[in-house]
Amino acid sequence: MQVFTSNSHLQGALDHYRLESKSIGFVPTMGAIHQGHLSLIKKALATCDRVVASIFINPRQFNNAIDLARYPRTIERDIDLLKGAGCHYLYNPNEAEVFKNEESISWDFGELMRVMEGEYRPGHFEGMLSVVHQLLLIIQPNDLFMGEKDFQQAALVRQLLNMRHKNIRFHLVGTVREPDGLAMSSRNALLSPEDRVLARLIPSALMQLVATPDIATCVSAIDRFSQSLSASGIKIDYLQLRRDADLGEMKPGDLGHGRVFFAGHVGRVRLIDNLARN
Ligand code: AMP
Repeated sequence: MQVFTSNSHLQGALDHYRLESKSIGFVPTMGAIHQGHLSLIKKALATCDRVVASIFINPRQFNNAIDLARYPRTIERDIDLLKGAGCHYLYNPNEAEVFKNEESISWDFGELMRVMEGEYRPGHFEGMLSVVHQLLLIIQPNDLFMGEKDFQQAALVRQLLNMRHKNIRFHLVGTVREPDGLAMSSRNALLSPEDRVLARLIPSALMQLVATPDIATCVSAIDRFSQSLSASGIKIDYLQLRRDADLGEMKPGDLGHGRVFFAGHVGRVRLIDNLARN
């Protein structure tokens, strides 16, 4: 695996393959690589001729300085894991390099970016979209791979592709979980042993909620689970049933697919997760 910190060197290596009409897959990450990230790499390797991963902890998408300072940084281990998975290139730039020649855009995708994470992490999605847009301009992949775990982020990136990168194909990859159901996340490493035990309650609640027979039952069960999770010491930001298509709140009688979304704090760590209704 070749590691690049400069845009032009990476572009030089990729142009070589582009000239041979080879497809380029891209997996953006913030590092602290785990099996969830590696499943994206695996899907990209199965789909494309060459695969680029990026590791860039984007300061603009952190609305909280402590969260940014505490975010795990494990670059040597990350390189070993990506190499072991067969990834061809790692782009690991600094902030100045990513935002060099930045095309400044004011992002507004309406309600989609105002609900859930948009409400609880002001500026997060603007920061995320600005970096993903830059990374796509730099790498110009044919295919982009992102995780279902960050479903709202994926929905916004799909809009970004429709608006600015129409020729890039989008792939949503399922959430990889720990044996007890907890969604893998770089932030899990920050959980204390006690909080790690508590965190299991989140996927367990989601699994029970999506197994409810109808929307009305699901919505009333959400109230009960919110109370019981809170009583266990989890500080909930939201636990909601929303439509897949537009992330609007799902009401009895609504057609189409829905999923239950969770965000909240377990100890000092903020976790998110979601599960599709059966
Ligand atoms: P992050 O490094 O957390 O920004 O995540 C980088 C990419 O990996 C995003 O597209 C995430 O949705 C995806 N991802 C994170 N956790 C998981 C997981 N447990 N399973 C599958 N994909 C994941």
